Amino acid sequence: MVETHIKRRGLMLVLSSPSGAGKTTISRRLLETDDNLSLSISATTRPPRPGEAEGKDYYFVGQERFDEMVAGGELLEHALVFGNNYGTPRGPVERALETGRDVLFDIDWQGTQQLREAARDDLVSVFILPPSTAELERRLHTRAQDSDEVVRGRMSKAADEMSHWAEYDYIVINDNLGNSIDQVEAILTAERLRRERRVGLRAFVEALRARE
Ligand code: ADP
Ligand code: 5GP
Repeated sequence: MVETHIKRRGLMLVLSSPSGAGKTTISRRLLETDDNLSLSISATTRPPRPGEAEGKDYYFVGQERFDEMVAGGELLEHALVFGNNYGTPRGPVERALETGRDVLFDIDWQGTQQLREAARDDLVSVFILPPSTAELERRLHTRAQDSDEVVRGRMSKAADEMSHWAEYDYIVINDNLGNSIDQVEAILTAERLRRERRVGLRAFVEALRARE
């Protein structure tokens, strides 16, 4: 089937979850398979974990530089999470949306609230829940990049994070990974077809209706 190309504004797809529920895994898979989706790389004051790369996972910055980004309006949103600052650089997101590219965000509920206030029409938010508390704890340990103390801290914060589920447009329970990825792809497919985002529709329909 030939897909008729209608000019479209990009959307912001936010995935949030308690740490360990699987949003990084789901995000990576979506990014591998979807050419029109790119990841918003956040700036953070937290130190890199083993295997994390500058400019790929995060921009790792000092507190002074982070404060400068906030003061200069360089961040679309920012929040303090587990004692570290995180924020979304504004420029790449605005450029992507204007050119019809979609942007994926791995940010917490505080950041999602700020994006909702700043750009409600562009936002599609998905909250990812673990199938159980025991499984969430198992995944945090399996990942094995954080100390026991950090895992305990993240488990106690998980309940707080999950209390925000009802603020999101869609809820995915990440039991089977393949199903969760299919569900997020289905959300993306439907949201891309929304009339309001398809800014080229008016001209397209006018051309369809035009008499010779
Ligand atoms: P988050 O980004 O939400 O903190 P991750 O994507 O890092 O979580 O996932 C945490 C751990 O759980 C990883 O080891 C990952 O491989 C594993 N995981 C993710 N989704 C599933 C799933 N559906 N079933 C089993 N393990 C999973
Ligand atoms: P981690 O340290 O495990 O990479 O991330 C910890 C938490 O910070 C996660 O819930 C993640 O979604 C959130 N986070 C990462 N980047 C940002 C950001 O730019 N803004 C906000 N508000 N949260 C972020």
